[in-house]
Order: sequence, then structure tokens, then C-alpha cells
Amino acid sequence: MSKKEIPYKIYLEENEMPKKWYNVRADMKKKPAPLLHPGTLQPMTFDELRPVFCDELVRQELDDTTPYIDIPQEICDFYRMYRPSPLVRAYCLEKKLDTPAKIYYKFEGNNTSGSHKLNSAIAQAYYAKQQGLKGVTTETGAGQWGTALSMACSYFDLDCKVYMVKVSYEQKPFRREVMRTYGASVTPSPSETTEVGKKILADHPGTTGSLGCAISEAVETATQSEGYRYVLGSVLNQVLLHQSVIGIETKTAMDKYDIHPDIIIGCAGGGSNLGGLISPFMGEQLRGEAKYQFIAVEPASCPSLTRGIYAYDFCDTGMVCPLAKMYTLGSGFIPSANHAGGLRYHGMSSVLSELYDQGQMQAVSVEQTEVFKAAEQFARVEGILPAPESSHAIRVAIDEALKCRETGEEKTILFGLTGTGYFDMVAYEKFHNGEMTDYIPTDAELQAGFDGIPKFPGNME
Ligand SMILES: *Cc1c(COP(=O)(O)O)cnc(C)c1O
Repeated sequence: MSKKEIPYKIYLEENEMPKKWYNVRADMKKKPAPLLHPGTLQPMTFDELRPVFCDELVRQELDDTTPYIDIPQEICDFYRMYRPSPLVRAYCLEKKLDTPAKIYYKFEGNNTSGSHKLNSAIAQAYYAKQQGLKGVTTETGAGQWGTALSMACSYFDLDCKVYMVKVSYEQKPFRREVMRTYGASVTPSPSETTEVGKKILADHPGTTGSLGCAISEAVETATQSEGYRYVLGSVLNQVLLHQSVIGIETKTAMDKYDIHPDIIIGCAGGGSNLGGLISPFMGEQLRGEAKYQFIAVEPASCPSLTRGIYAYDFCDTGMVCPLAKMYTLGSGFIPSANHAGGLRYHGMSSVLSELYDQGQMQAVSVEQTEVFKAAEQFARVEGILPAPESSHAIRVAIDEALKCRETGEEKTILFGLTGTGYFDMVAYEKFHNGEMTDYIPTDAELQAGFDGIPKFPGNME
């Protein structure tokens, strides 16, 4: 073991910064299942995906053999504006918890978008620009992805059309205005601007929307507009690839000080930050070089890994996207309206779903009042006001550290602190006023979502 004293924050030197992303699929013996064409049920080809995504991103999406992919210089230059992100030793939290555990977190909230999403947004905008496109369309839920993408698009002078889940559009006017500051147009979804939006509104009048609806609208707009492509902020293989920058920086910093995490924790919505954080560590585990306890944390109100079904499903409510094999609650599943804490997507990255299915990683679900208790405890000792999504990981990191207090074990715990929560004060307000409740869907409610999963030979029979 090194005798070097561990600083509060471990940074990297310029020459230690990642120059390549790491593609964990290359080290998976059993690969994640391919996207299927919803009509033919055959794997989607490069040519079939080209009308939807930028060419280079399609290549990355389909590439499950190349382990390291160069980060283009322009993207490295942009990363330098806000990276490396700090890897923090949570000395103050450890002291407060009176735990022998050593806790580290990788903080991705130090940029205007307030989350890790900028890591992939800038890559996707770059490839769109390289291809000579006019602009991109996307969906956003809580608004972090839309904000990140609008920043990335303005950097490369690309047009950016964002479909924002209606409930967030109304509850988070400040996020909307940040996006507009960066030049994006923001439309509440479902909207009358697309065929699929009109249909969803006709079938569900008064709906407050969902990520699945907004994705359908953004895809339709991209495929109907000359010079536009669709981009997505999570779930896809390409997004996990870009987010591997989080894990590579973390591992480089930890290796410098001979730190070996025993437990690695991340919140899981579509799986991009968790996938990015764990990738290089998971690679070691898959190659038989090391062993880690990986924990995905999801909300009890949207429990895709812990209570979902591993099957091919639609990625969106309008069923216009390819089918992805993933742990899913069904594309028609919409979390209860009292769910405040983000992470609302019905499915999970195919990469993480496959790793979970293989037993390479664990998952737990947590209730939102417990999440906000952890958020507040963390804010009070570590200073950072965490995003509700990130606080799912904090909850489990604290729980694991408290277990160490019982057993006396000096485990090293690493978690991903994905972002800040300044735009989530309505949720914090509910928590402070004692108006926040926990909602756990019943088996019957989940069954209604499962009933919408497509049935074909080999799937859901
Ligand atoms: C989007 C988001 C998440 C969840 O998305 P993943 O793709 O699962 O990482 C978590 N935390 C923050 C702050 C986010 O903005």
C-alpha cells in the first residue's frame, strides 16, 4: 500500500487526461443483445439506423469489439473546460457517520448543465457537425440532458430542438430558460407539432407526458426534417461509451494513490452515468483481473432492474424506435405523479441489463423520502447540494458505510455524484414540508406495463 496521504480532492494533470473512451462491450463474452427492427425483428443495420442517428454514432452504437476509441481533439478541448471532474474523499461525511469506511465520490455537477450529461452531449453534437448537419432533436425529462445538449449545440453552431416532458416544462421554467439562453427551442411534450404527439394527446387527454412520449416526438421530427438527426442522452451504447470518461478519470486518479474500491455505486435511470463510471472497473472484472461489488440504485417507484422483465421492448411510448433488449417495465409505464426524484425511464441500457443478467452487478431500489434524507445529510456535511437522482447513490453509499460501522470493516466505497439539485427545489420543498410520500407500484400496476411488451417468438412467451 502507498504511504501517500490522500488529499480531499484528487485531480489529474493535463497529461493524465483520457484520450480514448473505453467500450466495455469489447470485454463482454456474451454481448448485449442487438437493437431489432420492429417490423422484421431482424438486427438493425447501419443503413437502417442512418436516417435517425449520425453516421459515426451509428458506428459506435453497433461496435461491440473495439475496446478503445479515440476521443477527437475538439472534444478533448471542450472537456478541458470542465474536466477533470473532482474525485473527492468524503472525509466530512465519514466523520459524521462515524464509519471506518473510506468514501469517495466523483462529482460531475461542476458545469452549467449541472450533470454528467455534457460528456455525451458534446460528443454527439461534434459528430453531427462533422457530418454537416443543420441540427438535432431530442427529448428531455427533468431538463439536464436538454440543457447539456443546448450548450453543446451552441458551441458547434447547430440548431437544437428539445421536446420537454410537459410536467417538467411547467414545473421547471428555469431549466427551460437555460436551454433558451443557449439557443435551443423547447416544446412541451406531448405536443400538436407531431403526428405521434397528436395521437398520444387524443388517447390520453390531459397527460403530463413521459420520456417515452417525448422520444417519439423528437424521433419523428428528426426523420421528417432535412439535415436533422435525433440524439439521446442515455440508454444507448454510444452514450455509455462517451460516459466512460468518468470511470477512466476515476480509475486513473485512484490508481495514482493505490486505492482499490470494494463497492462502486451509481444511480440508474437509463444507465449512462453508472455504465460510464463502472466501465473500466467492469472491464477488469470481465477479464478476471479484479473483483468489485457494483450496485445500481433505482427508485422504488420506477424499478426496472429490480422488478422489471428482461425482454425486447419499445424504447418509446409511440413505438417508433427500434426494439431494445433490456430490463423494462413496459413502454407504457408512467411512474406515479408523486415521484419527484428523476430516474423515470421505463427501461435500462442493454449493456447494463446484460451485465446484471449475468450476475456481474447488483441492483437495489430505494424510496424517495429516504433519498431526500440522504441528500440533506450529504449537503450539510459535504457542502454540495445534490440532484435528487444523484442522491439515490448517496443513500446507498451511506447505508453501506453504516454497515461498516456495525461490522468494523474498512471498506472503500466509491459513488457517482452525477449533479447538482438547484433546479429541483420544488421537490426539496415538498420534502421539507412533509408532503413527500413514497409510492411503490403494486404488482397489478406493473403487470399493466408488462402487458404492453411486444410478444413474438422468443420474447415474453
Ligand atoms: C440524467 C441524470 C441521471 C440519470 O441518467 P443515467 O443515464 O442513468 O445516468 C442521474 N443524475 C443526473 C444528475 C442526471 O441528470
